[in-house]
Amino acid sequence: MTDLSHLPRVDRVLGDASLEGARRRLGAAAVTRLARAAIDEARAAVRAGAPCPTAADVAAVVARAAEASLARRVRAVVNATGVVLHTNLGRAPIGASAAAAVAASAGRYVSLEIDLATGKRGGRGAFAESALAELSGAEGALVVNNNAAAVLLALSAVAVGRPVVVSRGEAVEIGGGFRIPEVLARSGARMVEVGTTNKTRLDDYARALDDHPDTVAILRVHPGNFRMTGFVERPPLGALARLAHARGALLVKDLGGGALLDFAEIGLPGEPTVRASVEAGSDLVCFSTDKLLGGPQGGAIVGASALVERVRRDPLARALRVGRLALVALEATLEAYLVGDLDAVPTLAALRIPVEVVRARAAAWQAALASEGVACEVVDLEGAVGGGTLSEAVVASAGIAVEGDAEAIAARLRAGSPAVLGRVHEGRLVLDARTVLPGEDADLLAALLAAVRA
Ligand SMILES: *Cc1c(COP(=O)(O)O)cnc(C)c1O
Repeated sequence: MTDLSHLPRVDRVLGDASLEGARRRLGAAAVTRLARAAIDEARAAVRAGAPCPTAADVAAVVARAAEASLARRVRAVVNATGVVLHTNLGRAPIGASAAAAVAASAGRYVSLEIDLATGKRGGRGAFAESALAELSGAEGALVVNNNAAAVLLALSAVAVGRPVVVSRGEAVEIGGGFRIPEVLARSGARMVEVGTTNKTRLDDYARALDDHPDTVAILRVHPGNFRMTGFVERPPLGALARLAHARGALLVKDLGGGALLDFAEIGLPGEPTVRASVEAGSDLVCFSTDKLLGGPQGGAIVGASALVERVRRDPLARALRVGRLALVALEATLEAYLVGDLDAVPTLAALRIPVEVVRARAAAWQAALASEGVACEVVDLEGAVGGGTLSEAVVASAGIAVEGDAEAIAARLRAGSPAVLGRVHEGRLVLDARTVLPGEDADLLAALLAAVRA
């Protein structure tokens, strides 16, 4: 017969001084709930033959559960992974001017939807939209919550109930459950697949338009996070646009990346710009604002004014609208483009740094660590753009490889504040210097010293 009478009661556990901090940060109700759960578990363990824990034992379990809960909060991370647009790390960090604009307005009322010149109602995102039009050469623009929303909304507005032609090679999953066939279905469009996985010719599109004369649009999807190489073919965007227009259909392009400048100029070829997509004849171009554009999470739809207005009036537009914090950050990011201050966009700055400069920074880290008695080696690395863009591009980079138990050091770095994320390569912990933001060196070095010495 198990004796449960000595099991600590909730008030005894909650009375333990070690739970003060947890209660302050998580609230009394949540800590009480954790204590009940811990006592239930203890009861089951005692029934199974374990010794009866003290109130302090159970409180320690509660404190750990509270810590685990608090650790799930979003925390700052030093990105030493070498992946510039790391999807799990929030993609693009916004620049100092964008962060300042958010800080200056977030706690106040703002002119989000009011025209201060007239006092009348104004349009959310008017400045960002005219900037996007300016920067892309499009007539009009609309900003929404993300690019998935942009594609869904664009298709919903132009294609509900009507056929949309898409290549079998582009009926793909982009990541995170964004599947073109499913998005098309949800938009209300009827998907007409053409061609094959590896080859879709202009003729295939033409035949589909013959077979479905009520086709409203051809959808072209930019292969961001995958590549097909070898025996592959698809028509140039311009030819597709001409075909669509000759048959009274639209060309909608899901561009993904949102490059507002030519990345070939910084040695990263193969990513079409928004402007090129517009100039090739796309009627609507959808893209993320937090991928190659380097702004906050958001999606943009640019194109002919009348079409963009139709998209704006779609009932889904209200459900997918951009939030005010993101909008303020986007405005400041676009301002940097307008005035040509590209280094104000952190991800652009990170991609533009010459590899020698990255290597010199890694060497400075090595010297600083060596003076503290911690050994590491400066290594050449291959980084990536990430974020489902420029999937093939290798970004020449450099960093340090740290001596010692890589997994253990990595785990300690992840637990720090700020957390530091590197990667384990050939048994060593590698920290890539290209993606560590300016000003984060001291944090990184302090965290590393603590992690190695622990
Ligand atoms: C990234 C991407 C999306 C989804 O964009 P989010 O901003 O993540 O919603 C859609 N289509 C393409 C081609 C993409 O690259």
